[in-house]
Amino acid sequence: MMAALDIPKIRGRVQEQAVLGPTTWFRVGGAAEFLARPADAKDLAALLRELAHEMPVTVIGAASNLIIRDGGIAGVVIKLARGFNEISIEPDGVVAGAAALDVTVAEHAAAASLAGLEFLSGVPGTIGGAVAMNAGAYGGDVSQILQWAEIVTRSGDLVRLNMHDLGLSYRHSNLPPGAVVTRAKFSAVPGERQAIAARMAEIKASREATQPVRARTGGSTFANPPDMKAWELIDAAGCRGLMRGRAQVSELHCNFLLNLGEATAAELEGLGEEVREKVQRTSGVALHWEIKRIGIPA
Ligand SMILES: Cc1cc2nc3c(=O)[nH]c(=O)nc-3n(C[C@H](O)[C@H](O)[C@H](O)COP(=O)(O)OP(=O)(O)OC[C@H]3O[C@@H](n4cnc5c(N)ncnc54)[C@H](O)[C@@H]3O)c2cc1C
Repeated sequence: MMAALDIPKIRGRVQEQAVLGPTTWFRVGGAAEFLARPADAKDLAALLRELAHEMPVTVIGAASNLIIRDGGIAGVVIKLARGFNEISIEPDGVVAGAAALDVTVAEHAAAASLAGLEFLSGVPGTIGGAVAMNAGAYGGDVSQILQWAEIVTRSGDLVRLNMHDLGLSYRHSNLPPGAVVTRAKFSAVPGERQAIAARMAEIKASREATQPVRARTGGSTFANPPDMKAWELIDAAGCRGLMRGRAQVSELHCNFLLNLGEATAAELEGLGEEVREKVQRTSGVALHWEIKRIGIPA
């Protein structure tokens, strides 16, 4: 473990041995060695510039796509907070801070009668996570609307990247290692306010009918293989409802894992690996994790 002295002073907050589990969607995971919440992009840039090179850096958003392992995360975990929440409407789109929730950005666009961002209302993460994961739902994804994203690199430089630089593909981006997305601009077009609101209501109703949206979960566990649905392969392998400890494959949507209450990260990850093995044996298809598993096993 490194000494607290190794963290440069920032205007925002730094906590040592910060508990992370309760702030994640799965409600699992150990502590961050250091949790830094920079005040703004300049504060973040100074932190990354001055931070010892060997100090590992991990960025988290709303932790809606993460299993943080039970042993916690070594080094600095960066979580963007208030200084990264701003949303502004422009004639051709919306500029949003990386800590803004996707649903809030969709609501701002709707209130300004701008169409094209409705799908974001169905993704329970932040804008930073949406760019990093090329989040998508209901036929839309970030790659279809992103104009640019600003990042702070691991060495502390503020850089604006375009779509090409980001290399967005299915639930993937080519962000440089240790880079933190701070802001992004999304294209939107003038639309009819009621039609936009109706589309968002439709998305909400559809999600509530088909996904365990109020559960302790991480959304889709595995990426859909080309021309296949992960949930169908999992169902065919007999994994619907499968349990390990207090972790379960959702009965409602079997590409979702659930923490039924007191599950550990190891149980969730172990259950996911068991599903992968069973699918491999049944259908010969290797599923790839969409959920990021980070940190140290207990
Ligand atoms: C009920 C439920 C439903 C879901 N439905 C969908 C869906 O329909 N479509 C979909 O795409 N996803 C879905 N997800 C998954 C998840 O919401 C998305 O992947 C979301 O984009 C993750 O955002 P986040 O802020 O929670 O990121 P986190 O889970 O905190 O992090 C995910 C990844 O993004 C990186 N990251 C986060 N913030 C930043 C940043 N500022 N800069 C650089 N990297 C960053 C992290 O390092 C990590 O690698 C769902 C999840 C749940 C729980």
